[in-house]
Amino acid sequence: MVATSPLTDPPVHDPLTTTVFESLFVHGVDGALLATPDGRIQRANARACELLGWTEEELTVIGRDGIADRRDRRWTAAVEAQTREGFFRGVLRVRRSDGSTFPAELTSAEFFDGSGRRDYVTFRDLTAEEAEAARTAETRRAAAEVVDSLESISDMYVGVDVDWRVTYINAQAEARLGVRRADVLGGDLWQTFPALDGTVFEDAYRRVMSTGRPETLEDFYGGAQLWTEVRVYPLRRGGIGIYFRDVAERKALEAEREQLLAAERRSRQAAEQAQLDLAHRATHDELTGLLNRFGLLRQVQEVLLGRPDAGLTVMFIDLDRFKLINDSLGHGSGDQLLAVIAGRLSAVARPGDLVARFGGDEFILALFDTPRTAVDALAQQVVTVVRAPVDVRARLLVTTSIGLASSAGAADLGTLLREADAALYRAKDAGRDRAAWFDEEMHRASVHRVEVERDLRRALESDELYLDYQPAFDLREDSISHVEALVRWRHPERGVVSPEEFIPVAEDAGLIHRLGERVIAQAVEQAAAWAHVPGVRVWVNVSAQQLADPGLPELLTAHLDRVGLAPDRLGIEVTESSLADSSRLTCTLAEVRALGVAIAIDDFGTGYSSLARLASFPADVIKIDRSFVADLGSPRGHAVLAGIVTLAHAIGAHVIAEGVETLPQLTVLRELDVDSACGYLLARPGDPRHVPLPVRQGDDNP
Ligand code: C2E
Ligand code: CA
Ligand code: CA
Repeated sequence: MVATSPLTDPPVHDPLTTTVFESLFVHGVDGALLATPDGRIQRANARACELLGWTEEELTVIGRDGIADRRDRRWTAAVEAQTREGFFRGVLRVRRSDGSTFPAELTSAEFFDGSGRRDYVTFRDLTAEEAEAARTAETRRAAAEVVDSLESISDMYVGVDVDWRVTYINAQAEARLGVRRADVLGGDLWQTFPALDGTVFEDAYRRVMSTGRPETLEDFYGGAQLWTEVRVYPLRRGGIGIYFRDVAERKALEAEREQLLAAERRSRQAAEQAQLDLAHRATHDELTGLLNRFGLLRQVQEVLLGRPDAGLTVMFIDLDRFKLINDSLGHGSGDQLLAVIAGRLSAVARPGDLVARFGGDEFILALFDTPRTAVDALAQQVVTVVRAPVDVRARLLVTTSIGLASSAGAADLGTLLREADAALYRAKDAGRDRAAWFDEEMHRASVHRVEVERDLRRALESDELYLDYQPAFDLREDSISHVEALVRWRHPERGVVSPEEFIPVAEDAGLIHRLGERVIAQAVEQAAAWAHVPGVRVWVNVSAQQLADPGLPELLTAHLDRVGLAPDRLGIEVTESSLADSSRLTCTLAEVRALGVAIAIDDFGTGYSSLARLASFPADVIKIDRSFVADLGSPRGHAVLAGIVTLAHAIGAHVIAEGVETLPQLTVLRELDVDSACGYLLARPGDPRHVPLPVRQGDDNP
């Protein structure tokens, strides 16, 4: 330790010994030191000790070097100035006892007393002031920046104080509002901009001013013809700031966008509608608006997708004798009738039932999970509603026949439709105006039919088909003029199958043309074998479908030529019913006849055609159906047969009675002047070698 406290042991000439100075030194608000020119500290006041963190005693030990922040270069200059000019004033960094530093504003002045030159140093901490200064500078800079940005932004800005005096208006606002800053500043907002009066802007400004909560609004400001988006903020110093922006362009864009969207919406709706229309047309019947075949299939599938084990019932509804109405009243009335019936069926249908029209007069009702008794009740309802008179041009009374088919398990619409269709024929056969169910027997029949068709296709590939021949005998000359070829099928498992069974299947399956050609081919070959017997003709049966084929005459010619047979050795038998309603067939028949091939009308008397119409057919032979022959015992049967013979002879046709089984029948036929007869009594159909006709020498005839 160097010295004792100068205050406790003051030097004689120490100026601080005087009370005033001592007091100033001790109680000064600034730190004060007494130092020698070489930097020793002799005394320090309480404030200096407080600021520096050292005791006065410690300061006398560490001296000036102990409190100077050596990193602050200014200290050297300060000491030099002090030495040179005896005075220094400036800011220097000073160290505290804990090593931290602070900026100090320091004044040092030399003085002389009895003990030589000394320095009197005062200092104060500038930390707080520097921070404040920095803050002020920052604030100024920020304010300047705000103003700059207010001027540069594309937004318009107007600031007002609590008394609505305009305190700021930026360049943009000047320009757009058409005012000059100098005229506006300090003026009353409402007087400066009278157009604000009574607008939503005024309301908003006043609200923000009173509530202090910012608001945003958008409206048209008439004062400057501006569509503007406005943000109103309360200012910290009071008053409000109003930012606003021209949104005319955005508004226009929005409007345009809205228009485009609306147009797009409209075109999308139109497209969707068109799609719906298209889908509707594809799935609905145009005339009645009911589902069509495709639509029914789709909807049934849809229901079964959701309820795979739903029971399905198909009601096949067919108007009785609709064709007659259509033909006699015209298609317009027919269509009207169908529309009325469609409406009635829709009314009978329960929610969830599907109603469809399959074209023509065929309607379908598809029912799900409906018990048989309920189906019967519904079918009866359909029969009843159809029966009610319909007024289209004339008062029409129509009836309907209905076929019903149900599936217990997995339903297949196609199968059910086929089954219901089969049942429909049962209903028609039973007298129409009623419903009939598809039953087990019909099921077996339809399964059988499928098998027959399959086997028949195979039979046509192999040689399972052959012909039997049955002669007809001339009743006057006891000779044979007519030999009928009858097709047979030798089924590998079932034995010989009757044409009654497979001809209808061949017709349904579209196989009749191939089958028919087979028959013609074999028949002409057999006829060629009998070519040497004078006056014998071989006859083949030709079904309605074959007759409808305009290629028939050509086909016949081809086969005649193939075997070199004269056309007068061949005839075709066509049933009366197949001739029922076509003038085109008559034309084909005429062509065939022109070839020299004869024509017989088969099963005559069963086809409902009027006797008068017979004259229009180019018939060479009339074959009286065997049902009339069977009926010969009765007076009526006798009379009908007599009438037919008279008429046939009137048109020059040869008359053959079919199915003669007894001698009395033969006797009566002779009396009735029938030309020929055939039947089991005379000869059963059989192998051609058993037909009692002479065969040429050299021919194989056992
Ligand atoms: P259909 O043309 O009326 O032929 C006569 C049928 O009566 C034959 O039956 C014949 O066997 C049978 N019949 C002959 N005499 C008697 C008799 O005294 N009493 C009875 N009850 N029946 C007799 P089939 O051969 O079974 O032929 C049945 C039908 O099949 C034929 O009737 C004909 O419509 C059709 N058919 C036969 N062959 C052909 C063919 O090659 N083509 C076409 N499209 N149909 C054929
Ligand atoms: Ca025949
Ligand atoms: Ca016949």
